[in-house]
Order: sequence, then C-alpha cells, then structure tokens
Amino acid sequence: MKIAIVGAGWYGCHLAAFLRQIGFDVALFERGAEVFTGASGKNQNRLHLGFHYARDHTTRFQSRDGFSRFIERYPNLSRPVTDNIYAVPQGDSLIDYRTYKAIMASSGIEFEELGEGHAAVAGLTRLAGRIDTEERIVDTGAAARFFRAYLDPVLRLGTCVRREDIREAADGVRIGGERFDYLIDATWGKLTRPEIDIFYEPTLLLYYETRRTDWAFTLVDGQLCSIYPTDVPGQVTLSSVPHTPLGHFTDIAAAEHALATLPAATIHEKRALFEAQIRRYYPAFDESFTYVGPQLSMKTKPVGAEDNRACYVFRQGRVFCVMSGKIDTIFVAAERIISSIGQPDFGSGFGPGFGSVPTLLTGTPARVSAR
Ligand SMILES: Cc1cc2nc3c(=O)[nH]c(=O)nc-3n(C[C@H](O)[C@H](O)[C@H](O)COP(=O)(O)OP(=O)(O)OC[C@H]3O[C@@H](n4cnc5c(N)ncnc54)[C@H](O)[C@@H]3O)c2cc1C
Repeated sequence: MKIAIVGAGWYGCHLAAFLRQIGFDVALFERGAEVFTGASGKNQNRLHLGFHYARDHTTRFQSRDGFSRFIERYPNLSRPVTDNIYAVPQGDSLIDYRTYKAIMASSGIEFEELGEGHAAVAGLTRLAGRIDTEERIVDTGAAARFFRAYLDPVLRLGTCVRREDIREAADGVRIGGERFDYLIDATWGKLTRPEIDIFYEPTLLLYYETRRTDWAFTLVDGQLCSIYPTDVPGQVTLSSVPHTPLGHFTDIAAAEHALATLPAATIHEKRALFEAQIRRYYPAFDESFTYVGPQLSMKTKPVGAEDNRACYVFRQGRVFCVMSGKIDTIFVAAERIISSIGQPDFGSGFGPGFGSVPTLLTGTPARVSAR
C-alpha cells in the first residue's frame, strides 16, 4: 500500500517512520529544504506530562500516556531536567494551589511538593505552592538528525503540495499525476483544514543564556510565564501566555506574512513585557539570564476559550487531516490512522469542491507496535 504524507514535522516524520517500519510504501513531501522547519523545530521543547493542562482532561490524559510512550519509542530523543518546577502563584492563577494539586494527583501524575526553603526554588517569590515534576525536555536537534537519516529514501524535500494538486480517483488519491492509496496531511492545518474552527497564531519566545542549567520554572494556571531549557546546554527559552502570541489569523498566508515582516521594534517592546512579567516572580532574573535573541514560530489552535491541546484526526475519503496538539500526541495520530486504513471510505471523496463532510476518528484502538 502506498501512502503520501505531507509535512515533515514531528507528525509527518513519526507517521512516515511508523508506517514504513510496518511495511507501507511511504513518500514524505516537505516544502522546506530540511525536516523540522515548522513548529517542530521552533517550540519550547517540553515533553509534557499533563502539568500544563489542569483545565483540560483529554489533553492531560493524552500527555500522561504519550510521555511514557515517547520515552519507550524514542529513548534517545529526550532527557530529564533535574529540577523541573511547576508553581501556582499567589493571587494570579485561575485555580488555587490545592485544587491544582488535587487535579494532578487524581490524574495519576506523580510529583513532589517543595517547601519555600528548597534550593531549587531559591530566588522565587509570590508563590502559593510549588512542585517538582518528572517532565522532560525533547532533544529537537537529535530528533531532526534521526528522522533526516532514517527517512532519507522516502523524503521529497523542497516539494510544496497545493490543494489543487490533490485529486481523488476510483483507484486512490493522486498528487499531480502520482497515485497513492491514502494521503495524510500533517501540515498542522496549512494544506487542508481540520473539521473544527481553527486559527493561526504567529508566536514569539525569547532565548537566554544562563548558568542556572538543568532547571525549569513554569507558572500555572492562566496568563503566566515559564522558563524552559533547550537542547543547547546553558540556553533556555522564556515564554509568556499573554505576550507570546503575535496575532490571530484565519488565513495562513496572512499569518506567515505577518511573521516574516515582524518589526524589530515589536520584538524589543515585547521583550520588555516578557521580562517585567518574569521579574514579578523571579526578581533577580536579570542577574542569572542574558538575552540572546528571538524565536519566531507558528501555532495552529482550535477556536475557543478552553485549554484543549489534544490531537484530532479527520478522514475524508482517502485523505486524513491531522490536527496536532503537542509533540507527545504523535501516537494518538498514528493509532487513529492505522485503525482506519483499509476500512471503507468515510464520505465520498476529496477534490477541489470538498463536497463530503470529513469524519472525526475517535477512540483508542488496540495498541499497534511500531518497533
Ligand atoms: C511557540 C511554541 C511553543 C510550543 N511548545 C511546545 C512544547 O513545549 N511541547 C510540545 O509538545 N509542543 C509544543 N508546541 C507545539 C508543537 O510545536 C506542535 O504541536 C508540533 O511541532 C506540530 O508538529 P506538526 O508536525 O503537526 O507541524 P509542523 O512542525 O509545523 O510541521 C508541518 C510541516 O509541514 C510543512 N508544510 C506546510 N505546508 C506544506 C505544503 N503545502 N506542502 C509541503 N509541506 C508543507 C511545513 O514546512 C512543516 O515542516 C509549541 C508550539 C509553538 C509554536
């Protein structure tokens, strides 16, 4: 069976590696000159365990399960962070510390409470409570190198697939003139659109150098900020829920244009806001962290006030559309697709008119080994 995958980020690469390993003939199309040129190469590198998502059950449970599956499947592509602190600030959080702890404990996610005097929280202030977690850091550079080498025979770099190139026919789906049995859109909503309301959000994170290594600090829950290590030793990112977003777009071309033409003055103004926010909880931030530069990237998000960052897969005829949430949910996408391949078509075809209604694939089928 021949499968086309579009987009060589975490989703496209994992799906290509998995499907290839179990015997499918795969072609992976990527418009960039390399793998991981989208959000997969520019994010906060957090291998989530669920601590970020006190307000969304599905996201929390997908992360909790995806975390251990990620370590099992890709043992060399993440590493621990010795002191990985989550803290609930006094007065600024959407939920109080005891509620936060109760949600995590009842979700079966382990943590250790830290007292105010613990060395790992030295210099931090205005906190109602703090915990140490086992959350890890994703080694993005190692992942890109691994997939680049492993998928080399099936990668078609520098190849942009357009909607008008895709035609469903009686014997399969065609990209240009080439026939495939199925097509998987792993562009995070940039080629076809998932059957939920989405928007595109250009983003800004800030890189800093520090001697405070092997340490992460995340404030929850709401309009707060975090410091997280990168895969470069001594380098971290600073992220801020209110200041990281650079806009809200329904059109991807407009979102990409806004990101490409972002004025340096905007980054400068934003940096002052990021730093003012982190100093509120870490007054001596400037003494330990030195600014390096910006990281510009793009998120695709579901419309709504919920904190849902789960993964969804839609199928329309022979075309799958993957709406990724985070890195840990790659396994959800793979399972839903593999359990649907070979099943009768849902809807009646994919073409320029997008006539039929796509079907949301749900449920967790029996575990499929990708080893
Ligand atoms: C600022 C920020 C911080 C984040 N932090 C975290 C975090 O700490 N932990 C976490 O788990 N997740 C995080 N995320 C989310 C995570 O980055 C994404 O969920 C994940 O990388 C999405 O992977 P993807 O493969 O779906 O998309 P992408 O990595 O965006 O890959 C899509 C690929 O498709 C290609 N493409 C697009 N259109 C076409 C086309 N027409 N033809 C061919 N190729 C095309 C693009 O070039 C790109 O390479 C963060 C995201 C951002 C932006």
